[in-house]
Amino acid sequence: MKTLLLDGSEGEGGGQILRSALTLSMITGQAFRLEQIRARRAKPGLLRQHLTAVQAAAAISAAQVEGAAPASAALSFAPATIRGGDYRFAIGTAGSCTLVLQTVLPALWYADAPASVTVSGGTHNPAAPPADFLIRAWLPLVRRMGVRCEIKLLRHGFFPAGGGEVHARVEPGAPAAIDVVDRGEYRACRATAIVAGVPADVARRELAQAAFHLSELSAELRVLPQREGPGNALLIEVEHVAVSEVFTGFGARGVAAEKVADQVAGSARHYLESGAAVGEHLADQLVLPMALAGGGRLLTGRPSSHLLTNLALIEKFLPLLTRIREVGTNWLVDIVSRPG
Ligand code: ATP
Repeated sequence: MKTLLLDGSEGEGGGQILRSALTLSMITGQAFRLEQIRARRAKPGLLRQHLTAVQAAAAISAAQVEGAAPASAALSFAPATIRGGDYRFAIGTAGSCTLVLQTVLPALWYADAPASVTVSGGTHNPAAPPADFLIRAWLPLVRRMGVRCEIKLLRHGFFPAGGGEVHARVEPGAPAAIDVVDRGEYRACRATAIVAGVPADVARRELAQAAFHLSELSAELRVLPQREGPGNALLIEVEHVAVSEVFTGFGARGVAAEKVADQVAGSARHYLESGAAVGEHLADQLVLPMALAGGGRLLTGRPSSHLLTNLALIEKFLPLLTRIREVGTNWLVDIVSRPG
């Protein structure tokens, strides 16, 4: 099989191209070479999180790898067989555990035996799926595809300290196609404010401000041990019968708690009013499992460049066509077999 040549500066031009390529390569057996890794980012090349994803993928698929070094701008990856077993990966910084986990979990659906995977690093990072998002939003939909997988958050890790840990157990079994077009009837809206080594009053103010925007909100304040911090996150889960969405914001020095809550509640309200089945982040993270299932449809808002980049990459590895069209104020993503 000829090595697939990929350009990491295309589309979104970040770490997602690398992680999706690793997953698709392990499952299809298609070797690839990726150049210009994360070329559109301020610090291009492989950071600790990306390097750990490469090492994790190499470990579970006995891959031959060239270029797996810090800041490397090019990588060659040739997988062999995906094996179950017990795996443990340490990012070593606050780099996102959940992104590493999302890289290897789909591959383990195709392993010869069950697997358990523990990843340490950041569990609640800006610009990555927080562990709660993975567990409450992404995982239920993946499980609806028939996949047997459990994910547990063992310890929180915030940027920049890290030190968090997530654990997953996976049984082999390929996903089946589903449509995520209708989110179903409204059930509940829940806000959780988390503080670790940060005054609980910050969380109280976030919850009060979130309730000001979303009157139907139930609120939970979670005070973690100081050693899991410092960190503060506000999560709003919007539950419908068929889909749960999770919106997140992070406290930062110099940013008022009310401002964090305004932003998260704004995202939740926008989703509630949109009629879309899934929000921006869930959309770009669902299309890969859907493609592995051989097809599927989802209804989301205006497509992000992460979504478009993932769709383009899927077409390079799998005999599928991805289509996207405007339907009213939303967009329908359709993944179908390539004719012939
Ligand atoms: P870089 O962008 O620096 O290369 P990266 O590799 O960490 O870093 P991206 O390639 O940008 O990241 O991918 C980030 C992923 O995290 C995307 O799938 C995006 O949808 C997801 N994500 C970002 N923010 C959230 C959030 N608040 N909730 C859920 N998922 C998120």
